[in-house]
Amino acid sequence: MRNNIVAGNWKMNNDATQTRVLINDLNKALEEVSINCRVLISPTSINLTSAVALTQDSVIEVSAQNMHQAKSGAFTGEISAEMLKDVGVKTVILGHSERRTYFGEDDKILTEKVASALENNLEVIFCFGESLEDRKSENHFNVVESQLKNVVLSLSASSWKHIVLAYEPVWAIGTGETASPEQAQEMHAFIRSLLVDTYGSSVAEHVSILYGGSVKPTNAREIFSKEDVDGGLIGGASLKASDFTGIISAF
Ligand code: PEP
Repeated sequence: MRNNIVAGNWKMNNDATQTRVLINDLNKALEEVSINCRVLISPTSINLTSAVALTQDSVIEVSAQNMHQAKSGAFTGEISAEMLKDVGVKTVILGHSERRTYFGEDDKILTEKVASALENNLEVIFCFGESLEDRKSENHFNVVESQLKNVVLSLSASSWKHIVLAYEPVWAIGTGETASPEQAQEMHAFIRSLLVDTYGSSVAEHVSILYGGSVKPTNAREIFSKEDVDGGLIGGASLKASDFTGIISAF
């Protein structure tokens, strides 16, 4: 029906050698386990080309952590969707909370980025999630609803074949604090209900909704067992082959 997915977000970690070593370790480790989900890794942009080459014969898919919305031009330091495609990348993470917080990516920029990625036939992993204050003030459903409405819920129904959602409560990213499986399920069910309301259930049932926020081999199975949780976006634990493999094996 819909894909289960475990996607690693390496952030600004791993130089060229470390990238090669971790991918080789993962390729080996994944040969030993049964894999019941899609597996993605997202190295830094400078290492995407080698990552694509090193995963040629592997189940691992390579995604980018970000891209610029413009086709080309005077945008020093940026990389376009076409450039990602050109090196064999098929998926891009957009809207990660670190991009929103440290690089000022707002709904308008993200709308443009998502459009550019889809025009270039890239799959998008769209991230969103509430802050701790939003959760404490019980505003988390409103925040998530507006993050989705302002960027992706106006896309055509057919676009959803190329979009994966990643609910990442900001208070759980890199903090060791995890949403409980029940909290994750509650929010994922709410997200799916927004998709049902907007597009109907046949579209909504096919969209993978990932949870992100301190997922580890020790909590992955319980979180992934929830009906509307279709996998995870993994930060810290994707940097160690044994931990990442342990999370993949949770499916
Ligand atoms: C992330 O950055 O997307 C993430 C979920 O990080 P961590 O797993 O380290 O909390």
